[in-house]
Amino acid sequence: MDYEAVIGLEVHAELLTRSKMFCGCAVVTSDGEPPNSHVCPVCTGMPGMLPVINRRAVEMTIMTGLALNCAIAEFNIFARKNYFYPDLPKGYQISQYEYPLCKNGWLDIETSQGPRRIRIRRVHLEEDTGKSIHAGDASLIDFNRSGVPLMEIVSEPDLHSAEEVRAYAEKLRAILRYLGVNSGDMEKGVIRFEPNISIRPVGAAEFGTRTELKNLNSFRALERGTAYELKRQAEVLKRGEPVKQETRGWDEDRQITVPQRSKEFAEDYRYFPEPDLPPLIVDRSWVDALRAQLPELPDAKRQRFISDYGLAPFDAQVLVAERAVADYFEAAISHSAGRNPKTVANWLTGEVFRYLNETAESIAQLKVTPASLAELIDLVEAGAINLNTGKRVLGEMLQSGESARAIVDRQGLAQISDAGAIEALVTKVLDANPAEVAKYLGGKETVLGFLVGQVMKESRGKANPGAVQQIVRRQLTERKG
Ligand code: ADP
Ligand code: MG
Ligand code: ZN
Repeated sequence: MDYEAVIGLEVHAELLTRSKMFCGCAVVTSDGEPPNSHVCPVCTGMPGMLPVINRRAVEMTIMTGLALNCAIAEFNIFARKNYFYPDLPKGYQISQYEYPLCKNGWLDIETSQGPRRIRIRRVHLEEDTGKSIHAGDASLIDFNRSGVPLMEIVSEPDLHSAEEVRAYAEKLRAILRYLGVNSGDMEKGVIRFEPNISIRPVGAAEFGTRTELKNLNSFRALERGTAYELKRQAEVLKRGEPVKQETRGWDEDRQITVPQRSKEFAEDYRYFPEPDLPPLIVDRSWVDALRAQLPELPDAKRQRFISDYGLAPFDAQVLVAERAVADYFEAAISHSAGRNPKTVANWLTGEVFRYLNETAESIAQLKVTPASLAELIDLVEAGAINLNTGKRVLGEMLQSGESARAIVDRQGLAQISDAGAIEALVTKVLDANPAEVAKYLGGKETVLGFLVGQVMKESRGKANPGAVQQIVRRQLTERKG
């Protein structure tokens, strides 16, 4: 029997606010901070403490909802989600239940099967837990993360393959980074993915039983874990057994999913409205003001790069994936005298990206500013240096941060375009290679490349290759007659 995959994704993202969700403690993400250095009675759940809603966290969630085409609720109440865990000192988490801030949106993704629209069920706001650290036979708890604003984004079960799950997760992360609401640092665990996965016979009306993969924090684990789980479920059904509803974990070493807890013992969280907080009223003018602050998002930017700059869709896609890259690209165009977007795009996605890949640096760490890259491009375009020299100069700029002009001047790399100088070099090379000249005159045209190469070498790579080619041809023809 053929099965169809049905997958919904839950994403938890820590918000980039300065302070925590319900107290004034600073949000610290760097691991260099001493444990429990940013805590207070509120975020450690002391009796009698009173939470206060972080306005900026609400705004970041609304902006996310707007970017995901959601309806923003005017009336919101927070809810207590009750459960015990050592890193949850209150014995409950303040979350949202029946009244999420944002609902009924969508996100468009690109897949190898073409574009697809994935519906968003809800985006709500809650607080993160502390972190348990297991050291030998002791367990330690760091409450620095306790109470950090956490946004949960839940899709409808509209995803139908591991590839789509990954494309959705990548696009969502890009949007959160564009909005500046989440850093996207996956290795720090500030964005975590939980796919709900089921399969059903193709054409069936009902969903199959789902399993939930907990806490994945890389795209690779998300894609592989999902693919593994789809295959595992198909094998279970083929054996005539039912899929058990349970949460499972991804075992990175063994590349398999393993059961964690079964839904037979599913917790009942006993949600009830949070009595320590008033309802949160979001009036329309607040939403409109936030809407006006939204940055241009990746899809709109890609369209503009295609229509305004004439870029190929693939290049446009590559350039908009990171907002910092797109900004760098546009800044470089504006500084370049030639203002040729395609040329700038080629240098950026070619030489600069190669360097970034090799060094694993981000564009923000580049020693070469957009203005400096533009200067280099202009030198090549104007013929002051040739393309190969340009690439070498850029390589040095990326290492040292020196300007193109300075490197060219110091090393005397300026291209020789002066016809008289090239004529002399060509004559010298032809005189030195009588056998090759004879072959060429005897009809072996391929020798031309060799002779041009010799002249380039003689000029230490600085001659204008077009001019050299032309002059070599002419002088050879003259020798014939
Ligand atoms: P919870 O995990 O708290 O039970 P929901 O029931 O709202 O929450 O579902 C969470 C996620 O599971 C959503 O992304 C939803 O689309 C997805 N989902 C629900 N049913 C299925 C199913 N049968 N197969 C795959 N995903 C599902
Ligand atoms: Mg769930
Ligand atoms: Zn605190």
